Amino acid sequence: MAPDTIYLDNASTTPLRGEVLDAMLPYLTGEYGNPASIHPMGRTPRDAVAHARESVASLIGADPSEIYFTSGGSESDNWALKSAVLGPHPRGRHVIVSSIEHHAILNTCSHLKSMGVEVTYLPVDRDGLVDPAVVEASIRPDTAVVSVMAANNEIGTIQPIREIGGIARDHGVLFHTDAVQAYGQVDLDVTRDNIDLLSASAHKLGGPKGVGFLYVRKGVHLDPLIHGGEQERGIRGGTTNVPGVVGFGRAAELAGAGMAADSEHERTLRDHLVSRILSEIPYTRLNGHPSSRLPGNANISFAFVEGEALLMSMAMNGICVSTGSACASGSLDPSHVLLAIGLDHATAHGSLRFTVSPRNTLGEIDRTVDVLKEVVGRLRAMSPLYEDHIKNGEETRG
Ligand SMILES: *Cc1c(COP(=O)(O)O)cnc(C)c1O
Repeated sequence: MAPDTIYLDNASTTPLRGEVLDAMLPYLTGEYGNPASIHPMGRTPRDAVAHARESVASLIGADPSEIYFTSGGSESDNWALKSAVLGPHPRGRHVIVSSIEHHAILNTCSHLKSMGVEVTYLPVDRDGLVDPAVVEASIRPDTAVVSVMAANNEIGTIQPIREIGGIARDHGVLFHTDAVQAYGQVDLDVTRDNIDLLSASAHKLGGPKGVGFLYVRKGVHLDPLIHGGEQERGIRGGTTNVPGVVGFGRAAELAGAGMAADSEHERTLRDHLVSRILSEIPYTRLNGHPSSRLPGNANISFAFVEGEALLMSMAMNGICVSTGSACASGSLDPSHVLLAIGLDHATAHGSLRFTVSPRNTLGEIDRTVDVLKEVVGRLRAMSPLYEDHIKNGEETRG
């Protein structure tokens, strides 16, 4: 990365923290043992994995025995839904999910549908919130699981998961939450929040890529997704990714210790970014909930410009942002999340996501807005839509 790069795409992935790398290094070098080995080389890796399991569990008030390490958020999401509905004794073959879930959930649902499972997609309001009353109305006698993400990766909206989990529990239905964006960013407690299954991933909080976990409440039956050896209490085969797991544990400890100060810093930067953009660039709007949102997320629509063009121009100035989710970039379909909150196709197309980390600075934010003003102005000057708009003197859409 060029030294003057400004990285504002932390919802896609985050840089590995130095302290995390330091914790991982011994397990990439001298301590290469397999934690399942009986001989002495297994000992230190085994203890390190046990310690990491405690660290990731304590951030959500879970017991270490309820944590199953996986290859990341996508595997955890797949595992939770498939186990809940295809396991030996599912309550039925009906699943309820929000319409703004990550593709790890939505594409798992499409697959389940092809196997005869019925799926209900919950609508969201203009701020991206799921209405708990609609969750309750959607529950059927054959509903196996309700899955609603703790916080959205595109627009940052934080869902009322405690209420939703309580409703699922009252009806005897499992509640899963994709907490990949929320874990380490906002306060979560599996007991208080009525969570049965929870997905998290290390690389969204300064940890390494390719490692995550699924939390499974004690007493909830979990069917293996990856069949193999006796790892993870015999239900997730595969030699443990020791450096990854150790890095995840360290990242969780750091995120927990710094959560209050980190979110305060992120919120300050994000609010500065949003207020400068909305006041200095006309025809812009903030997407997502005004207050119930991740501290580091800003998603903004710029009328009369294409998000892809905007993103490329920003990138040429060394500023990394995103249009919707990383998984969707490369396709030209507008984001399913922005459409679900009611944006028209053109507005959804002209949207950028900025996600800050505790390591970003106010200077970087100011430079970003300065470049953005210049770039948006130049693109609009070339936009026939903008020209028509000016000529016709239409009402402002901002
Ligand atoms: C990144 C992300 C995932 C996928 O996690 P991976 O570890 O990259 O597989 C799932 N859900 C959400 C909300 C995410 O942001």
